[in-house]
Amino acid sequence: MAAQERRVPLVNFNKEYREVGDEIRQAIDRVCESGWYVLGEEVKSFEREFAEYIGVDHAIGVASGTDAITLALKALGIKEGDGVVVPANVYPSAFGVALAGATLQLADVDPRTLNINLETLKEAVNQNTRAVLAVHLYGNPVDLEGIANFCKENHIALVEDCAQVTGAFYQGRRVGSFGDAACFSFYPTKNLGAYGDGGMVATNSGDVARKVKLWRMYGEEARYQSKLIGHNSRLDEMQAAILRAKLKYVDKWNQRRREIAQKYKQGFSGLPLEVLSSSETSQPVYHLFVVKTKDRDGFSDYLKRQGVATGIHYPQPIHLTESFLGLGKKTGDFPVSEEASATVLSLPLYPQMSEADVGYVIKTVKHYFTF
Ligand SMILES: *Cc1c(COP(=O)(O)O)cnc(C)c1O
Repeated sequence: MAAQERRVPLVNFNKEYREVGDEIRQAIDRVCESGWYVLGEEVKSFEREFAEYIGVDHAIGVASGTDAITLALKALGIKEGDGVVVPANVYPSAFGVALAGATLQLADVDPRTLNINLETLKEAVNQNTRAVLAVHLYGNPVDLEGIANFCKENHIALVEDCAQVTGAFYQGRRVGSFGDAACFSFYPTKNLGAYGDGGMVATNSGDVARKVKLWRMYGEEARYQSKLIGHNSRLDEMQAAILRAKLKYVDKWNQRRREIAQKYKQGFSGLPLEVLSSSETSQPVYHLFVVKTKDRDGFSDYLKRQGVATGIHYPQPIHLTESFLGLGKKTGDFPVSEEASATVLSLPLYPQMSEADVGYVIKTVKHYFTF
C-alpha cells in the first residue's frame, strides 16, 4: 500500500468534546458558581445516578480506580497478608490489591477471553484466600456464574474490577452488581471517562458502603471524628459534574463501540489474526479491541506507517514486572498470560470513529496479511 491515506488514533478526545462540549461547560460552570469543590452536591448526585445506572444500592466516589480497589478490599476486611486472587495479565489491577496490603495470588487466564475462569481461579486459591478480584478485561464480562458460586461456598469475597466495562451486561444485569463490591475507574480513556482522575465503589451492602466512606476520608464518621487511619481519596465536584453529563451518553457510545467491533470481526474473518471471544449471555462494551498475532512487531510497525495507531495492553505480566518480582514467580508459571503479553495488540476503537476510519483500519489490516 502506498502513502498514508489518513491517521486513525487509538482514542480521540477532541471529537468527544465537540459532541458534548456544551454540557461539559455548563457542568463546570455550575461547580465554579457554587464555590464548593470537594464532596458536595455534585458527588452526591452522581453517586445516586451511578448506583441507579448500575443497579446497586450504593455507590461511593473515590479518587481513582486503583483507590476503589484498595478501599473496597479494606472495607471488606482484607488486611495485611490476606490472600487476594488477581489475574496475572492485568497491569493496573495488581497495584490496588498490593496497596491494600494483601498478598497477591496470581491466576492465569482463559486463552479465548484473557479473563479468569473457574479453573484458573481454583488453581490460584489456597487456605489463605480471602477475596477474588474478577477483572472484566477489555470491556468483556467475566463468566461470573461459576466463580460467584465458588466464592460463596468457600466464604471468599468477590470483588469486580469494572474499570474497563462500565455499562456492560452479564445474564441481563449490569456488570458491577454481582460482587460484594465493584470498582470503577473514570480515567479519561475509560468508557465513562472524567477530565482527570476518578473512581467509584459500587455495592449492595450498606456495611461495605459505610466502611468505604470511612476509608476514603481519614476514617471519619463525622468531621474530625476519626475511627481508623483512613486515606484521603475523594472524587471532586468538577469531575462528578462532568461525569453526570457524560453518563447520559454511555449506553449510546457503548452501542457504537459494539457496532465497530462487529465490523472489525467481519472484516478480519479468515485472517491469521485471533479475535477474543465473549460469552453468549453477556453484552460486552469493547473498551479495547484486542487481537492476538505472532508477528506483533511487524504488524504494528506496518499499521503505524499507514497511520493506524495501536497499543499493547499489557506488555508484561505481573509476575515478570520488576515491582512484583518479590512474589517469587518465574517465566513459565502463567503461560497464557505470558503468551498474551507477547501477542496482544489493541486497534483503534472509540465511539466517535467515522465509518471511513473503520473501513481504513480494516483495509489496512487486510492488506498486511494479504501481501
Ligand atoms: C484503569 C484500570 C485500573 C486503575 O484505574 P485508575 O483510575 O487508573 O487508577 C484498574 N483496573 C483496570 C482493569 C483498569 O483498566
